[in-house]
Amino acid sequence: MSEGRENEMVTDLGSVFLGPKAENAEVFEKLLLEAFRDHVFWRRNFHPEDGFVVRETEKHAPGYQHSISVLSQELLGLLGELKAGVPFFSPRYIGHMTSDLTMASLIGYFATMLYNPNNVAAEVSPVTTRMELEVADQLARMIGYDTGRQWGHLTSGGTVANFEALWVARNVKYLPVAVRWAAEELGVTGVQVPLPDGSSADLTELGLWELLNIAPDATLDLAASLHRHVDDPYRAVELVGHHSLARLGYQEFGRRLSAEFGDSLPPGVVLVPSTAHYSWEKICRSLGIGGAQLVHIPVDNRFRMDTAALQETLRGLAARAQPVIGCVSVIGTTEESAVDRLDQVVQVRETSARELGMAFHLHADAAWGGYAASIIYGPDGKRRSYEETLASYAPEVWPEEGVYRGLAALEHTDSVTIDPHKLGFVPYPAGAISFRDRRVRELVATEAPYLFHRGASEWGYIGRFIFEGSKPGAAAAGVWMSHQVLPLDARGYGRLIGETARGALALHRRIDGGDWSPFQVVLLPRPDLNIVCFAIGHPSFQTLEATNDFCERIYRAMSVGEERAARQIDYFVTKTVLRTGEYGRSVVPILDRLGFSYDDYVRAGGVSVIRCTVMDPFLAARRGRTDYIEGFMRSLREVMRAQL
Ligand SMILES: *Cc1c(COP(=O)(O)O)cnc(C)c1O
Repeated sequence: MSEGRENEMVTDLGSVFLGPKAENAEVFEKLLLEAFRDHVFWRRNFHPEDGFVVRETEKHAPGYQHSISVLSQELLGLLGELKAGVPFFSPRYIGHMTSDLTMASLIGYFATMLYNPNNVAAEVSPVTTRMELEVADQLARMIGYDTGRQWGHLTSGGTVANFEALWVARNVKYLPVAVRWAAEELGVTGVQVPLPDGSSADLTELGLWELLNIAPDATLDLAASLHRHVDDPYRAVELVGHHSLARLGYQEFGRRLSAEFGDSLPPGVVLVPSTAHYSWEKICRSLGIGGAQLVHIPVDNRFRMDTAALQETLRGLAARAQPVIGCVSVIGTTEESAVDRLDQVVQVRETSARELGMAFHLHADAAWGGYAASIIYGPDGKRRSYEETLASYAPEVWPEEGVYRGLAALEHTDSVTIDPHKLGFVPYPAGAISFRDRRVRELVATEAPYLFHRGASEWGYIGRFIFEGSKPGAAAAGVWMSHQVLPLDARGYGRLIGETARGALALHRRIDGGDWSPFQVVLLPRPDLNIVCFAIGHPSFQTLEATNDFCERIYRAMSVGEERAARQIDYFVTKTVLRTGEYGRSVVPILDRLGFSYDDYVRAGGVSVIRCTVMDPFLAARRGRTDYIEGFMRSLREVMRAQL
């Protein structure tokens, strides 16, 4: 087949997974065995002159036989126990963010695991470190970053990726102060800095507020321009490091700020949507920023960050001269799969630069929704228009234009978290972080990078630029293999994720049209991606507390717990609470339909909803004998009646 034809080929998703009934067992077994046999071949042929350490005659020894018997017996025991696990492979599982995994990733992972490469340094992972960087490059391209400028790598998950983003944002935020102190010590004058409002000024004449409001790009340029002003750039690098927050820590850095700038400013804050993932709280605590400096921006009734409220908050912060370390926008919320109008967030950032003189790092937490950006690329790697994107999913009207715009705006961020172990359908651990500007690495490197330019190529040392140490090269190979089979465009991942959205929308419509009387099933609005949530009311529930309790009971009956094994369950869901403190007024339409007031909601502390995460591309595909959506509705109805 010609290259051109191959590019147009649409992947049959039936070929991607082992399948709910292990339909692809034959090819899976063949490839797994191939991987294993090939590994054996490799061992046998590495210095064959060495001979065998374990000889056949020794295998009859009692100590040998016993050990192998224990191994075999215990494996059988383990295999038995694993059956108490959760059947993520089935379209009947619409609970948490887990599902069947691509065969490519499982086989790639297994094959590589036998070699156990450690991606902390290329010396112990020559193949998989290269793969990790290739994967980072592919993700950056999907985000829309300039691949020549970006820096990215895999992490153990979204939490660590988010951590690195804020670690970098914080170090970038305070870098101008360190550069200023270094410049003073070196006696350098005349370094010009562009300010957010378009003007420029001399570094040594800026006040603290201006120093903490230099755009991330300009900050990185500033460090480079200091080097140009001195004879010995290494000395400049060293001095900037010497005065950096990373070296001094908040307590000493803060002490020096107040000593040198008089009244020091209120603490720097991090802006997140009020429903943001709980990892942000952990991260602010661990970076010494402080959980109290997390500022929550309300969400609208589609659960997207309210950008008017964001603008208002920024005005308030500017009035108090309170610097913003970073602003986080969420692409695919963990609870509802809501996609922020990142394009509007970007506009707010531009307005605040112009009108308020504010600058800050913009991060997209796309741990869940990042892979959805694949829908906006054609097989030629070019961006598709909204109309072209929409046409791929007809007759479904998906994505909404706002979702398309949110995804397309990823290119304007400074960093993005994407979890391959979520909508990349690959095994744990695999998160990823991408930065638009690779120079940020130097701000978190544990040793000055110039020490390492001599001799070795820099790719050998990625462990120095990242938070983690030892990392499985097998995970990188799993992601890499999966991207080979399913490219990050409309015909690969775009198609897979489109099918999950199609399933979620079909589920949403059918629940909406279902006859639930005497119950009342109150759906959250149509999801942006693929998570469907609903509350359950009944005329006999006098209070929201009673309504929430009933939801809890439904959830227990439809999930694995101490009392309930997987085999006793027909369909699996999960549950979440839309808590008052986080959701505020965004759930008023839901309360109205349930017949409760805002006061009821405040008293109950939140409203509980059943949450269905649709990752299975076959949920609405009707490829098998079972109509899973109909089956789910029937099962839910039965459980509701039984629990009343
Ligand atoms: C899952 C998730 C995270 C955390 O990712 P882990 O891989 O579980 O560490 C962060 N943010 C969002 C939006 C998520 O959905």
